[in-house]
Amino acid sequence: MLLEKVAREVAKCEKCGLHFSRKLAVPGDGPADAQVMFIGEGPGFYENEQGKPFVGPAGHFLDELLLKAGLKREKVFIGNVVKCRPPGNRDPQPDELAACKPYLEAQMAAINPQVIVTLGRFSMGYFISNEKISAIHGRPIWVGNRLVVPMYHPAAALHQPALRDSILADFAGLPRFLELARSKGATQAGEPAALPSEIKSESGSGQGQTNLTEPIVQGEESPQQLSLF
Ligand code: URA
Ligand code: SF4
Repeated sequence: MLLEKVAREVAKCEKCGLHFSRKLAVPGDGPADAQVMFIGEGPGFYENEQGKPFVGPAGHFLDELLLKAGLKREKVFIGNVVKCRPPGNRDPQPDELAACKPYLEAQMAAINPQVIVTLGRFSMGYFISNEKISAIHGRPIWVGNRLVVPMYHPAAALHQPALRDSILADFAGLPRFLELARSKGATQAGEPAALPSEIKSESGSGQGQTNLTEPIVQGEESPQQLSLF
């Protein structure tokens, strides 16, 4: 299966300098039919030890956020823009981001998630340029056919009360964002030419969440019946 192939390639990849210092590469984790994909920055100390994403303190906070959003960790895909730990947790460099990009692209193509949540600015920059995370966090944005929601990085939000409140509120919006992506996806699978007017106005406003109706996607049932595309 495609995700496993990516994981095998990542495990032996030497396309950028980060392979010199890694202990274990961290390809990402989650099922191929995940409805939501979270994209962080890169492995930290604990992830490098275990080969799994978000298993340190930021990961524990992410677990708490997922719980608040009514999402099960085993139902979502969690990955990173670079798969090997930058030494000392420094920022990933442009050449490293570029070298690692095809793996994330292959993962997105394999999963085709309804919603992509970017965690932190490097992941946001992958989809959205010239925007500040402080200005647009928690706002769903259509990037092509994908609904992308930029959010703060849990590690940054963990110890800063204001950011912590923001990320908690942003995660609480996830069921509504899924619903928004779902109505657009269902429309596309059916009659591409005839968008219902309310969907049109939602996606056309650029501020989907202000126009949304009650969130209705909470558990696993609705997402399953959605895997039409
Ligand atoms: N921070 C990240 O960005 N990714 C991880 O996997 C862990 C911490
Ligand atoms: Fe390869 Fe990505 Fe690891 Fe660099 S960070 S060695 S490109 S898997």
